[in-house]
Amino acid sequence: MKITIAIDGYSSTGKSTVAKQLADWLEYIYVDTGAMYRAVTLYTMRKGWVSDGFFDKESLIRHLEDIQISFKRNTSSGKAEVCLNGENVENQIRTLEVSSYVSPIATVSEVRAKLVEQQQRMGEEKGIVMDGRDIGTVVFPNAELKIFMTASAEERANRRYHELRERGDDVSYKSVLSNVIERDRIDTTRKDSPLIKADDAIEIDNTETNVEDQFHTILQLAKDRIAGRI
Ligand code: C5P
Repeated sequence: MKITIAIDGYSSTGKSTVAKQLADWLEYIYVDTGAMYRAVTLYTMRKGWVSDGFFDKESLIRHLEDIQISFKRNTSSGKAEVCLNGENVENQIRTLEVSSYVSPIATVSEVRAKLVEQQQRMGEEKGIVMDGRDIGTVVFPNAELKIFMTASAEERANRRYHELRERGDDVSYKSVLSNVIERDRIDTTRKDSPLIKADDAIEIDNTETNVEDQFHTILQLAKDRIAGRI
């Protein structure tokens, strides 16, 4: 039996790392929904509809049909990379600038409706691991396994800071920490699909857990669900 696995949680809690590992192990499809919101954000930035203190929400809503998001498998890394209207934008969407505009854009209900519909279509056949903020609450409320990941803001900022520096981005720890805190604030307080733990989700705080141990814990939960043991 194939199941649906929903992984939600705060930014930089390592959701995508564990989701990817699980999908590889189970031979399931993996979908990073944050990448979809980031790609919409990149489109909005390129059009000049968002900048410091300015967001032309109406133009974005009017042109939503012009935005096509898809995933393409990178044959050397085996990783699914996000494409915006056919262009691979996997690298461009990971900058701190995109991170600073994505949460306001993710509050727009029209954007969410479009992406949620696409996400639900991708999961119609089950056999999917999807990570995001509203997967267990809105996208797949009937998912057989729901995980909710947390960690301290400082630890998350530290991880994201090192990731960005390794890519060569000249960012400060302070700016990364304030972005993490601000995104948490917007994501948890927005009206449409706020980030909250689903009642039946299992919470995992990984401030002090290593990636390997965490993977084995979640894999065991998935195996139990697949076998119908829980
Ligand atoms: O997961 P990631 O940090 O890349 O997500 C970027 C942003 O996209 C989040 O901070 C959130 O504002 C938004 N998002 C969302 N719903 C999802 C996934 C991401 O609102 N399912």
